[in-house]
Amino acid sequence: APVTVGGMVETPLEVLHRVFGYSDFRGEQSAIIDQLVAGGDAVVLMPTGGGKSLTYQIPSLIREGTGVVISPLIALMQDQVDALKAVGVRAAFLNSTQSSGERHEVERDFAAGELDLLYLAPEGLTTPRVQELLQRAKIALFAVDEAHCVSQWGHDFRPDYLWLSNLAELWPGVPRIALTATATEATHRELTERLALGNAKHFVASFDRPNIQYRIVPKNEVRQQLLSFITEQQAASVDAAGVPVPAAGIVYALSRATVEKTAEFLRSKGVPALPYHAGLDASVRAQTQSRFLREEGIVIVATIAFGMGIDKPDVRFVAHVDLPKSVEGYYQETGRAGRDGLPSVAWLAYGLADVVQQRQLIDKSPGDRAFKQRMGQHLDAMLALCETVHCRRVNLLSYFGQSYHSHDAASQDNLTCGNCDTCLAPPETFDGTVAAQKLLSTVVRLKRERNQQFGAGHLIDILMGKRTPRVEQYGHDGLATWSIGQDLNQAQWRGVVRQLLATGLLAVSADGYGTVVLTDSSTAVLRGERRVELRHDVVASAGRAATRAA
Ligand code: ADP
Ligand code: ZN
Repeated sequence: APVTVGGMVETPLEVLHRVFGYSDFRGEQSAIIDQLVAGGDAVVLMPTGGGKSLTYQIPSLIREGTGVVISPLIALMQDQVDALKAVGVRAAFLNSTQSSGERHEVERDFAAGELDLLYLAPEGLTTPRVQELLQRAKIALFAVDEAHCVSQWGHDFRPDYLWLSNLAELWPGVPRIALTATATEATHRELTERLALGNAKHFVASFDRPNIQYRIVPKNEVRQQLLSFITEQQAASVDAAGVPVPAAGIVYALSRATVEKTAEFLRSKGVPALPYHAGLDASVRAQTQSRFLREEGIVIVATIAFGMGIDKPDVRFVAHVDLPKSVEGYYQETGRAGRDGLPSVAWLAYGLADVVQQRQLIDKSPGDRAFKQRMGQHLDAMLALCETVHCRRVNLLSYFGQSYHSHDAASQDNLTCGNCDTCLAPPETFDGTVAAQKLLSTVVRLKRERNQQFGAGHLIDILMGKRTPRVEQYGHDGLATWSIGQDLNQAQWRGVVRQLLATGLLAVSADGYGTVVLTDSSTAVLRGERRVELRHDVVASAGRAATRAA
């Protein structure tokens, strides 16, 4: 609903000043707003924290009618609406958590043209009741938040989003904006097509988050590693003025059990950690979330259920104790760190078991072949990021189809960012061809024993010459490769297996037992036609080295 001052509609900049109290637009905000105010459509790809909300909130205030925002984040609607009301914007939401009295009130205000912004959950929008309601008043624009949810290729598909393709036909002439912090080419193309945004202007921001330091370390004793990481972050944490403040952080784990155990462990070591997962009572979750937002220095240990859109600017670190399933997921989760622009760290510990577990999860998933193939590709990209000996940031951005540009205008170096572990402490590599051959030829020999399943652990026992009950039972101390790998220790061998799995020179069979098998690429290594470059895992000290160099 336009605000007029002496008969003149306010400009976007005036609204920014008066309503939101900010002095300037950031990045492409202004251009996006102009596009919508003029009645055009927009597709916005901007990282978390980039300032997407204002790009539809301000046009909703300037254009006639109510801006309708479709967002899957029901838990956040209340917060967003409260924040808008606090600055005098007439905002409301409709979702399944409301009483019918509350709904009626919102519906009445909307029909009377008394709302600037109305937030809707996608499942609500597909009901006749809401669709009839929307016909009863003028709509300023439609904003589709988290628009990647319409993409089946992505990791967050929501069937209700498909209905949104009807908006263009049902409300011709009402501008539409789709927003997401996921930026792969495939997702971009798919959402543009599925939301019928063929005439939209595209705004693709840089996905670089220069204040986030990326670190990926080999896992050995993950809880201890996590504890030293958090302790280090707590010691280093200062506010914008350089005054020490407790460091708030998020620790992500895959399972509820790991979440619970990790939170308990951290608490026993004096870290104010709280668990968060879908199995906890809604009231407990709400309380945890509000403590995280309001108190200083809380560490949330959570499954990925936590954090979608949480607007806490001073999250100092995001840690992963399990391997994320995709680079998109990793980017979104780590993106919750440092929204205030201050130095922050994204830390991930990953190991051989993660690779095996993730491959098994994919094999066991109920999806069809194409689905599994897609999940496999997501995982491969994530593994490539973990194993790279080059700049993590360059790798991450190139996954999103972007190249890295140094923020230092004088620097021509667009291949090293200087703010990730591999840039700060370049990993040493070694010629791992012989080690790989020893391992692969053990796999060849074991393959001759039909119907037997041998995982990575057993292979390493053979190479190291460990006389375990299993080795004796199968007489594997008689194999030609028995104890030929004593030059490396257990952790080093696990690193070798992990890297071969990550690079596709070895695979986990779909038998569900974690049996390792050869791939088409293995033969070239066995024949000596292909050299294998491996990184030396610097166990546990990688994080410290990075800090020293910084
Ligand atoms: P996104 O939705 O892209 O993750 P938000 O819209 O939540 O990002 O904005 C992130 C933070 O930046 C918010 O705290 C917001 O108030 C702030 N912000 C956005 N635009 C501006 C601006 N032009 N000037 C100052 N702060 C801004
Ligand atoms: Zn780097």
